[in-house]
Amino acid sequence: MQYQTIRQKGRKNITIQITSDARVLVKAPPYTDEQAIKNAVISKADWIAKNLSKVKNRVKLPSLEEGSSLYFAGVTYTVRYHNGKKAYAIGEVLYLPKNNLNKQLEKFVKQKFEEYIKPLTNQYASAYGFTYTAVKVGSARSRWACCTGDNQIIYSYSMAFIPHVLCVYVVCHELCHTVHKNHGKLYYGELCKIVPNYKTLRQELKKYSGFCTFLRQ
Ligand SMILES: [Zn+2]
Repeated sequence: MQYQTIRQKGRKNITIQITSDARVLVKAPPYTDEQAIKNAVISKADWIAKNLSKVKNRVKLPSLEEGSSLYFAGVTYTVRYHNGKKAYAIGEVLYLPKNNLNKQLEKFVKQKFEEYIKPLTNQYASAYGFTYTAVKVGSARSRWACCTGDNQIIYSYSMAFIPHVLCVYVVCHELCHTVHKNHGKLYYGELCKIVPNYKTLRQELKKYSGFCTFLRQ
């Protein structure tokens, strides 16, 4: 197994990290011998393999380069840059400003996502008989969505970038929270009725975890 060793002054023990670009990084005290490091890596082989494959399975963040394709909220756009201040689209061509790019794109995506997720939530709520008090779009970085005590469903606009089928899964996940607030047996019974393959979709969604902070730098 390939790994990179960094010997650090003041470090007392060996730790192993998987970097976001799928490298194995071993941090060790200054005078640790090579064999001790090797042994540490071998003893953690299963953990390393598991976490390495997790990172490798992650879907790469979209590119914002001129000419690249960018999917959000049901439409795949071609990226072009212009000298104006705002992000906008004409048909399937997305015009992005060179300055303040992330902020302007975020604003545009939020608006498009709202137009996409509100009818989608309504569609599934009516089909399965759920009621909610409001649908809102926020900027949460640590989760895709939540359902409040008074049944407002708040989605993170990051969902705009994930495939439609996964958005449907998140919508159904939240709609079930209008009936059951926790993730107990009754909750999953309800979810299973409308999304029988929810376990597969939940796994699939994990591959997009990096998207939760896309445009936030
Ligand atoms: Zn939940």
